[in-house]
Amino acid sequence: MPYAEVSVNSPAATRPTFSYRVPGDLEVLPGQAVWVPFGKQLLQGIVVSVGDSPEYPETRDIEGLAEGTPVLPEASIRLAKWIADYYRCPLFQALALMLPPGFERGSICFLVPVVSPVSNGPGDLGDIEHILLEKIRAAGRLPLKHAEKEFSIRAAARATSTLCQLQLIERTYDVERPRIKPKLETYIQPAADTQTTLDMAASLLKRSPKQSSLLSYLAAAEAPVALRQAKEATGCSPAVINTLAGKGLIRLTSCEQFRRPVLFSATSPEPPLHPTAAQHNALQAITREMDQSSGQIFLLHGITGSGKTEVYLQTLQTAIKTGKRAIVLVPEISLTTQTIERFTARFPNQVAVLHSRLSLGEQFDQWREIAAGEYSVVIGPRSALFAPQPDLGLIVIDEEHEWTYKQDTAPRYHARMVAAEIARLSGAVVILGSATPDVESFYHARSGRYRQLDMPERLTEQTGSALPAVEIVDLRDELKAGNRSIFSYRLQSAIKQALDRKEQVILFLNRRGGATFVQCRTCGHVVNCRRCRVPMSFHFEGQLLVCHQCNYRAQPPESCPTCSSQRIKYLGLGTQAVEAEAARLFPLARTSRWDSDATRIKNSHQALHQVFATGQADILVGTQMVAKGLDFPNVSLVGVINADTVLNLPDFRAGERTFALLSQVAGRAGRSAKPGTVIIQSYFPRHYAIQAAAGNNYLDFYNTEIQYRKELNQPPFSRLVRLTFQHTNDEICQREALRLKKQLSEARDEHGLASTSLIGPAPSFVQRLRGRYRWSIIIKGSNPAELLNLVELPRNWRVDVDPYGLE
Ligand code: ADP
Ligand code: ZN
Ligand code: ZN
Repeated sequence: MPYAEVSVNSPAATRPTFSYRVPGDLEVLPGQAVWVPFGKQLLQGIVVSVGDSPEYPETRDIEGLAEGTPVLPEASIRLAKWIADYYRCPLFQALALMLPPGFERGSICFLVPVVSPVSNGPGDLGDIEHILLEKIRAAGRLPLKHAEKEFSIRAAARATSTLCQLQLIERTYDVERPRIKPKLETYIQPAADTQTTLDMAASLLKRSPKQSSLLSYLAAAEAPVALRQAKEATGCSPAVINTLAGKGLIRLTSCEQFRRPVLFSATSPEPPLHPTAAQHNALQAITREMDQSSGQIFLLHGITGSGKTEVYLQTLQTAIKTGKRAIVLVPEISLTTQTIERFTARFPNQVAVLHSRLSLGEQFDQWREIAAGEYSVVIGPRSALFAPQPDLGLIVIDEEHEWTYKQDTAPRYHARMVAAEIARLSGAVVILGSATPDVESFYHARSGRYRQLDMPERLTEQTGSALPAVEIVDLRDELKAGNRSIFSYRLQSAIKQALDRKEQVILFLNRRGGATFVQCRTCGHVVNCRRCRVPMSFHFEGQLLVCHQCNYRAQPPESCPTCSSQRIKYLGLGTQAVEAEAARLFPLARTSRWDSDATRIKNSHQALHQVFATGQADILVGTQMVAKGLDFPNVSLVGVINADTVLNLPDFRAGERTFALLSQVAGRAGRSAKPGTVIIQSYFPRHYAIQAAAGNNYLDFYNTEIQYRKELNQPPFSRLVRLTFQHTNDEICQREALRLKKQLSEARDEHGLASTSLIGPAPSFVQRLRGRYRWSIIIKGSNPAELLNLVELPRNWRVDVDPYGLE
């Protein structure tokens, strides 16, 4: 095939691919990484297809192969094309999602001496050229970066280009990879057969008992033993090992130890539970579709504790039995350790856990092992969807309604959508599981696009743990009754009772910090972040003001910067204020706080979890982190300090978010035999989202919500694309937004796309972020991309297809 279509790794690439001629001596395949000239650069690219004729007329030659074998299978290329098309991102960006870790970092330039230089160089080389040439000759291959560090970027460039012109050196390019050193482990084993070894051990017993004991230990072990392990078990010294090796009685070998971040229990797998009728029904339906590789998408709707995880586990088992592999997505690894442990216990040594905190070396090792088919199950966050799992037969998305499944940097994909496309392309079956499904997912299940499976009963009921009793407290009444505390009288007495019974309490507030804004009571001035224009929060620790958008920190003002008044008031409230109030009202109780301020240190999730799980704290105050997946049997009371924090956001999903959060928080109480109580404080106690969450009634919520969505033509009845422009100058930003809006509406009218509507432009919810103003336009309709195809969108506009949350 003389021509190849190549996707290049350059922000300047204006097209998905460029056509290149394949030189006669090269053979390239789709999925191969190649070096291609692009403008004045030599860049890395991925071959997307090969053919007899070029797609575009102007063609240059492929320079060479970057890797011997293709780095991507054709299935990944097809998926990347879909992602680039649907989410409107550069093709290379979509391909990069699937490349081995570290690959997309691009190329690194090396300087190498020319083997037989035309001349040894004129004597009049400048100092820098001279030193550089010496260095390159000494090193054999010098990264350009080193030269830049030594002489400055400009001087290095000038010297390099002079030396190249004189044909004394050449530039070569290589893939910049994390320098991955394989980790080696030394193993030790007897050199002779077992009987001979035992005889030797016996004869050495008197003279050198240490040598003897090591030999008997090795003879008893059936396979080679890791040297470390042998040392630990017998206490032998390096000298003993050297002596025995010198005598030819033992043999040392070394082999690559793949870095596996999770320690698997080597015990026998935990057996499956006998399925209930609902589980049996679900298992049968899923197995049938897996047998046919139909690509069916299931929505497994079941309340917390209804046995969904057991269904995942048993479906995985069936998949493995039929030679298929699976990917399991969880919302966030560090908050789902309990779930992950259940997978590793059921399938010991067959589960790979992908974690963004892994080192590049670990990631790269895992990637290779997964590609080699070493793991039946890959568990990870949304990006695990792109793990090179061969023979993929099943994808599970647990807690499918979680917003972490939407990526908030380009490409802004949603794991649910990508999984659906993988299912369509490969026939893999998808299970979306949730107690509170995304409204859109539930709509698709109702309309037949997904298949719905219901698990309506909590399984642990027979042991006495019923659903918690939920009470709603109207905060307006508290003020009237003269209560100035943020804890209602009802909540205060419930906390006291729980503490008296030596039970634990969780207090939930979806906002961290001490006070969410600081205001002058005289003139009303609110202290805003200088860069983002959002109110700054007061943090007790360090007594600082912190911007929750950009982390900018400042000293709180002693007097108002506008009117010099000293009446500065701390208003709104965050988790730190809740903790302080709990300490004030219950001075004898031990409190601890769990939010992203408290968990910024690595592994502090585990530490905090440990503190509460072992009863070293009585009251746990936290943001949604406490709401997710935790299972503390001694918690009998959950208090929601203010259910309205999310409800009041200007987002059409505010009700849905509130419902999901409250449902999840409520699920934390009464996980064992103790009856649980949930107290929800709100200024809007009659709101349908709060009422439905209190009644644990998803259908009530859904039916009201979907009606609103229909009336307002919001998703799933329409689709949205959000376009955002940022600039340090507000006026320029606004002008550009207005210009694009005008262009879009003209294109719409010209092509008769009357049903597509344009919203905005308007300043974004966070009007200014990190010193840049932001304006957005929303395109809404049955096919908003259609309109986008009609205009030339400048590259500095950000496109978010199916956006979540506020911009
Ligand atoms: P979910 O994922 O829906 O929250 P789980 O799968 O975690 O539900 O099940 C809840 C509890 O019920 C767990 O303790 C689990 O071990 C138990 N369980 C699940 N399935 C069965 C079963 N078929 N028989 C007995 N216990 C079960
Ligand atoms: Zn003031
Ligand atoms: Zn800020």
